[in-house]
Order: sequence, then C-alpha cells, then structure tokens
Amino acid sequence: MTIRIIYLLGLGHSGTTLLGRLLNAHSRVIATGGTKNIPLFVAGRKSCTCGAESPQQCEYWSRVERALQRRGLSLAELNFGYEDQQRLDRDKLRKYFESVLEASGADVIVDTSRRRTYFTKLEQVPGVELIPVHIFKDPRAQASSNKRKGIGLLRSLWNYNLRGRRVRSMEPAGSPVLHLSYEQLCRDPRGELARIMEAAGLEFEEQQVSTFGEQETHILGGNRQRRDKSSNIQLDETWRERLSPFEQKAAAYLGRRSYHENLRQAGYNGVESR
Ligand SMILES: [Zn+2]
Repeated sequence: MTIRIIYLLGLGHSGTTLLGRLLNAHSRVIATGGTKNIPLFVAGRKSCTCGAESPQQCEYWSRVERALQRRGLSLAELNFGYEDQQRLDRDKLRKYFESVLEASGADVIVDTSRRRTYFTKLEQVPGVELIPVHIFKDPRAQASSNKRKGIGLLRSLWNYNLRGRRVRSMEPAGSPVLHLSYEQLCRDPRGELARIMEAAGLEFEEQQVSTFGEQETHILGGNRQRRDKSSNIQLDETWRERLSPFEQKAAAYLGRRSYHENLRQAGYNGVESR
C-alpha cells in the first residue's frame, strides 16, 4: 500500500494553516499538523483543534492510538528524529502513517511539518510517496507576520531568501515541488487547490472552498485560526498598516529576487505581485 503525503514546505506564517484546512476539507484527505507536535500533544503541551488536550480526550487521536497499538506501538513511543536522524525509525513512521490513514479512512495525509530536512527523512520511509507543496507570501506580508512575533526586518528577509533558495533547489525523488503563493491561493482558491489535488491524484471538491471552516479538524498545534468556523478566505494585507512605508520598501527590495523566482516557478505568468 502506498502512503501518499502532501508535504507543506514554507516559512511559519506563510499560509500553511489556511492551506492545511482547505486540503483537509477534501473527503479523502486528512491533515494532522506537524509531526513534531505529537510528542507535545502526548505530554499535554499542545492541543488538538477539536479542543482536546491529550490523545485520550480526542476521539480521532484515540482511534490513531488504537490502530498503532494493533501494530505494537503507541503515540508515546514515536520519535520523529527531528534532532537526530539516526533516531528516525522508518518502520515506526510507516506504522504511524498507516494508523493515521486507517483511523481517518482517508487516502492522503497532509503533513505541515514544513522542514526540508524532515522531508528528506520521510523520503526514506518505504512505501511513502511525497507530494511537496511550497507556499510562500509576498516578502512584505512575511516581514509583517514576523514583526508581530518580534523578528526584525533584516532577519526576516534573510530567512525568506534562504528558505526560498533551499526549497527551489530541492530535487525530490518523486513528484517535483509544486510552488504556490498565499496571495494567489486567496485570489483563486479553486484553481490553486485543483493543481494540488491533481498532483495528489484526487479531484478538487467544492466543499474545500465553500464550507471548509465547518469541517471537523484534528490538527495538532498551530494558531488560533484553526478554531475559526468561518469559510471566508480573506487575503491578509495588514502589512500595509503594520509596516512603515520605509519597511515596506525595504522588504520588497530585499526579497524581490526570491519572490519573483518563486512566482516564476509557480508558473504565474503575468500575475502581478501586488
Ligand atoms: Zn481532536
């Protein structure tokens, strides 16, 4: 059995939360959040979007736990090898993904771990087929989100350019990286989702856009938006107020090359960047 995983690559606050929810609203797709949140969830330090604060409190994660136990494992025993690649156990990871699919009845998993190094590790898990999706924002919007987190402009842009370059230079063994911009996702969610669903071997479903906010989710960690029940996709342009005119110019200038290269690889010919 092939385990298909849509793997979201991108910076924090680049739209991965929204995209994860839109994908999760598909009848054959389950989004789990980042796997690094699982040990934190087991320890009671992260919660599920259903409100549960431990696997026992969540009906869905309890099913995953039972499916794992049938395979001789438990959530508490999983180590995803973030710190130490040697500790990554491919067999355990495979059993974890099988359990997620079994508990949800889905065909495709969305993993929002975002890191490229972990992606490379997952490529080594037998039977796993990865569909890498890179989501990026306008550098001004990224700098604005980071500013709210106390990250300075130069550091933001340094990270932005570095991450863009690293993701664009990836050469995955399976599917090529599909690039998409957060802004374009908000302008044309149906078109952008259809591209991803096609890469994952599924058809776009209208409910992914029309009622995604009402769908039950069991995504671990993340921000408040995941508890939002509305299905409005509203482009966040608060950077226009949060960044000073000078900061806007500086962010646009310092991030322009990476941004345009991302847009080019996304295939947005003629799409304006503002
Ligand atoms: Zn839950």
